[in-house]
Amino acid sequence: MEKRLIYLDNNSTTPTDPRVVDTMLPYFFQHHGNAASRSHPFGWVAEEAVDYAREQVASLLDVDSKEIIFTSGATESDNLALKGVFEMYSRKGNHIITTKTEHKAVLDSCTRIEKMGGEVTYLDVKEDGLVDLAELEAAIKPTTILVSIMWANNETGVIQDMKAIGQICEKHGVLLMSDATQAVGKIPVHPKEVGVHLLAFTAHKMYGPKGVGALYVCRKNPRVKVTAQMDGGGHERGMRSGTLNVPGIVGFGKAAEIAKNEMAQDAERLSRLRDRLEIALRGNLEEVYINGNTEHRMPHVTNLSFKHVEGEGLMMTFNQNIAVSSGSACTSASLEPSYVLVALGLGDDLAHSSIRFSLGRFTSEEDVDFAVQAITAGVNHMRDLSPIWEMYKEGIDVNSIVWESH
Ligand SMILES: *Cc1c(COP(=O)(O)O)cnc(C)c1O
Repeated sequence: MEKRLIYLDNNSTTPTDPRVVDTMLPYFFQHHGNAASRSHPFGWVAEEAVDYAREQVASLLDVDSKEIIFTSGATESDNLALKGVFEMYSRKGNHIITTKTEHKAVLDSCTRIEKMGGEVTYLDVKEDGLVDLAELEAAIKPTTILVSIMWANNETGVIQDMKAIGQICEKHGVLLMSDATQAVGKIPVHPKEVGVHLLAFTAHKMYGPKGVGALYVCRKNPRVKVTAQMDGGGHERGMRSGTLNVPGIVGFGKAAEIAKNEMAQDAERLSRLRDRLEIALRGNLEEVYINGNTEHRMPHVTNLSFKHVEGEGLMMTFNQNIAVSSGSACTSASLEPSYVLVALGLGDDLAHSSIRFSLGRFTSEEDVDFAVQAITAGVNHMRDLSPIWEMYKEGIDVNSIVWESH
């Protein structure tokens, strides 16, 4: 095989746009000041750069720049939103509602909250990955202080109906938080329009640098407050202390500006490439299934199950050339199927046979065509070696076989 290395794992992290890198560089040496140093020009320049970046990020979301709290990434933003609301609103109640398909940053924060005396409801999702709105509404009770539902799923790209969810929360006077890490910068995300009060996101999933993120916290109607999880110095309006990562924040701002200008054309191009990938693979191969809702889905993502092929093994056939993620997670010794795909009702076999392809700004048509060839060859190779595939082709009902457990 021709020697190439193609990156189709943009949901894990995106390359930093060279325009972003260029904007950051002066802030490492020339303008290296601490944005909190009020007494000299080094500090003033740094503070001005942070203010400008805050405007750029706020403008992408169509919110006020005072509503943007810079953090170290979406994991921290999720922690701050969930634990911060839990602590701040403890007199109102202790109940939080979320879903089973959230990112670990949300789920693990919820586990911690349960240990701190909170009560958490984990909603199932429908087969297509969408939240059942009636179920959500039924789960709200007088002690509910927060609903936390991700804007777009990192594994499937499924986009929730945030507007409808916002209306339900509004009706019951409950705060709504959304982990929008996979959506911000790629599709329009305007929290105020849909009634989202807290919104977590990160630079490195939108062509900015790693290690910098943000939390939008609504300041008006309602005025939302979160208890700081990091004390010391009172930066970021007291909600997140710590010296600001000035070069990172400057890069985040630039990434937001580029996203705002180029999002529509990127999305258009990427959805065409994504469809090209899907159509080619499903044309070349039998028994390929798309996981999750295909209408309400991020333009650059597809999650496919290749029936009777083990995803990790399949990946091994081409991972010298193509970077993707499989629907299995290596936890210590065993291979666990993705909890997101299991929540969609996929059996272990289909979950284990899944691969997530996430395209990005720097993915070309040639990249996609090369990937199609390599993946087609890989699947055919795996199926040629597979007794299960042989049985399936002979018409034996593979599901009727009782396997030895080990
Ligand atoms: C990547 C990701 C995170 C974590 O973001 P970091 O900035 O790496 O901490 C959280 N939520 C979702 C949905 C993600 O995709």
